[in-house]
Amino acid sequence: MSDIDGRTVAKDIRAEVAAAAAKLRAEGTVPLLAVVVPTDDEGTAWYVRSIKKAAEKEGIDCRIEQLDAPGKDEIVAKLQELSADDAVHGIICQTPLPKGVALAEVGWYISPYKDVDGANTESAGRLAAGLRTFAPATAEAVLELLKREDLVLEGANAVVVGRSNVVGKPAAMLLLNESATVTVCHSRTKDLAAVCRGADVLVAAVGRAGMIGADFVKPGATVIDVGTNPTEDGGLVGDVDYAAVSEVAGRLTPVPGGVGPVTTALLLRHTVVAAQLSKTHR
Ligand code: NDP
Repeated sequence: MSDIDGRTVAKDIRAEVAAAAAKLRAEGTVPLLAVVVPTDDEGTAWYVRSIKKAAEKEGIDCRIEQLDAPGKDEIVAKLQELSADDAVHGIICQTPLPKGVALAEVGWYISPYKDVDGANTESAGRLAAGLRTFAPATAEAVLELLKREDLVLEGANAVVVGRSNVVGKPAAMLLLNESATVTVCHSRTKDLAAVCRGADVLVAAVGRAGMIGADFVKPGATVIDVGTNPTEDGGLVGDVDYAAVSEVAGRLTPVPGGVGPVTTALLLRHTVVAAQLSKTHR
């Protein structure tokens, strides 16, 4: 079994981002990513700081827009303001959102040109139609990792466990666009292990520590673990039982060090692409 090393992939992408950002700056455009944070959740604050640090390291300015106990209207107003601001190229609306507010609902107010984490349902529709768009970065990270491996997605059996708008569904669309034969599973799927055992490519995006055991995996399969589940000692584990599955899988992403770093790198890549596009769509 070999590990799929997300940190190396992220490093490559970030080097390309740094070069693109330097070129934009030389041409007089300072790429700017705005992150709207509608929660005071500590884990979210840590994650957002890590995005800011990564962005600034590669030459992208990052503005954190902290909102204090906002309702839907305040979030929408901020997203509209940022969408109309010519200095802003990329916009992320961080989750969790206040109770009763869905990302798909407020994401509609992010300009599709600036929608670097694919939160606007227009971006989702374009993805489903196979058109060029910004896909949610985590879903695209799954594809980015797979494409850098020596494997054929065309005709491969791909099983995605999880059907959220941010990970499972867009990952399934991206795999379908690569001509994989895609099955999407969720909490009501019957005999999940048997369905997963049919997969050449298995993507776990559930949020349940270690739920994908060796009995879910076909020998030699490629397994992408999207799950990030905090442990009591402050660590992070995936949805895949790493020790057990590494005995069966052909390739497996570790947690941490798999999908996570690539997700961040892709948010930055999307931001420089958005900054490049801003020169033509205004
Ligand atoms: P959601 O909670 O939105 O979705 C979880 C999905 O898993 C749902 O579709 C749910 O089914 C399904 N599910 C829950 N229990 C089971 C079960 N027992 N069997 C089969 N399916 C089940 O989570 P997200 O998609 O937002 O995130 C998934 C994981 O990915 C989380 O661990 C999250 O932390 C991680 N993540 C990692 C990122 C990264 O950068 N590495 C970024 C984003 C997320 P149903 O729809 O029927 O309820």
